[in-house]
Amino acid sequence: MQYLSTRGHTSAPGFSEILLGGLAPDGGLYLPQQYPQVSHAELDSWRNLPYAVLAAAVLKKFATDIPGSDIDALTAKTYTAQVYCNSRAGEDSEQITPLRVLEASNGCKLMLQALSNGPTLAFKDMAMQLLGNLFEYTLNKQGAELNIFGATSGDTGSAAEYAMRGKKGIRVFMLSPHLKMSAFQTAQMFSLQDPNIFNIAVEGVFDDCQDMVKAVSNDLDFKAHQKIGTVNSINWARVVAQVVYYFRGYLAATSDSQQKVSFTVPSGNFGNICAGHIARMMGLPISKLVVATNENDVLHEFFQTGVYRVRKSAETLHTSSPSMDISKASNFERFIFDLLKGDAARVRALFAKVETQGGFDLSGKPGSDGDEFGKAASFGFVSGKSVHADRLKTIRDVDARFGLTVDTHTADGIKVAREQVEEGIPMIVLETALPAKFNETIREALGRDAVRPAGFENIEALPQRFDVMKPDVIAVKRYIADRTGL
Ligand SMILES: *Cc1c(COP(=O)(O)O)cnc(C)c1O
Repeated sequence: MQYLSTRGHTSAPGFSEILLGGLAPDGGLYLPQQYPQVSHAELDSWRNLPYAVLAAAVLKKFATDIPGSDIDALTAKTYTAQVYCNSRAGEDSEQITPLRVLEASNGCKLMLQALSNGPTLAFKDMAMQLLGNLFEYTLNKQGAELNIFGATSGDTGSAAEYAMRGKKGIRVFMLSPHLKMSAFQTAQMFSLQDPNIFNIAVEGVFDDCQDMVKAVSNDLDFKAHQKIGTVNSINWARVVAQVVYYFRGYLAATSDSQQKVSFTVPSGNFGNICAGHIARMMGLPISKLVVATNENDVLHEFFQTGVYRVRKSAETLHTSSPSMDISKASNFERFIFDLLKGDAARVRALFAKVETQGGFDLSGKPGSDGDEFGKAASFGFVSGKSVHADRLKTIRDVDARFGLTVDTHTADGIKVAREQVEEGIPMIVLETALPAKFNETIREALGRDAVRPAGFENIEALPQRFDVMKPDVIAVKRYIADRTGL
């Protein structure tokens, strides 16, 4: 399996070559040259596989340059009940992503697939834990090392640290805005005592952190010499790891592979739902892929109108589903490439226009950049939006009717899913975080605290290990060099 760039760069790397990198050399994103296909017979043969074995079967179709037995070992090490142990009472940790029926009436079924039972209580662990093991495996083979440098406002950074802690050949340098994360998120990250994890609290806001990462990334000499890499959501292996749970959810919700299901996905960077799109392109019988956004509704606007108009960070609202507060969806280019039938020259032009003019228009109206928006529905895509009041209402309603507390992002998903349920087709909402992570809003909705999984009761009291720094690029470079010894 070889990979292409959505912007047409002609090198055709294999999976292992793109594993540690980010963007293609031309600024595009990597996609496989063809989507591997899964027949109904093969799908049926996957029906009862344990999660780790299913993950290996999917990964083998994309990572053809890694020996199959090594992939088996990597997924077996990653997808264990010990790692994904934070499931709710009554759920089976062995399932890794347990599926439960929320409501079933008049042939309509609404289901919830738990993706948040990993160490940081958010779905990013599903892919990041595999990435940690894949990185360690590949670096070890090459006798190489990697220094991951990133910025976080919460979820991604902690998922990366928990995936990379203690891994040979890997260090993590993570910037976060000093005193701006929730006490829970801060404790999760800063309580890690592993010597390969470095938390840097920047006296500024998240954008200051991101600017520092950009400045360091633009210094190509420093980057090469210090072996700097990233783990952002455009990483192809992360997307592949997410494809697996769409198969798992489908197989758990159906009894034969003639049936269809739909998925609703609380979305920000379009990484999670992009994996659903790829599963569908591989032949998984998905009816609808429902994009759920919060007040930051750039994606909803596109799927309503065909106009993609990104917002600046100053125009991005801070909401109670903060992990979806994104106004430029970094994985969206992968879908646009497929929507334009692989016309890389046009993809390049459209995303250049995003940089210069803030967006593009595929509505087909006079003066627009094309009319392909009309085909978005044939890829299963529809969308909806949920705002703070919807979240509160949904959290209360789900609590009252099913005795289940859901987090704010998942609540956005459930609200939008209800608008899109079809008779005879199970609708699976992906649960992207556990409520304990967003307790402030749970208190607002329910007047009580969310239950914390065992082991998280007192994390705010654990000793914390972090360094405070001014938003100073030279200082952070020195900090890194001092600790890598390179
Ligand atoms: C990251 C995240 C999302 C958004 O996922 P994307 O892949 O960026 O679309 C939604 N919910 C939670 C809890 C997240 O952490």
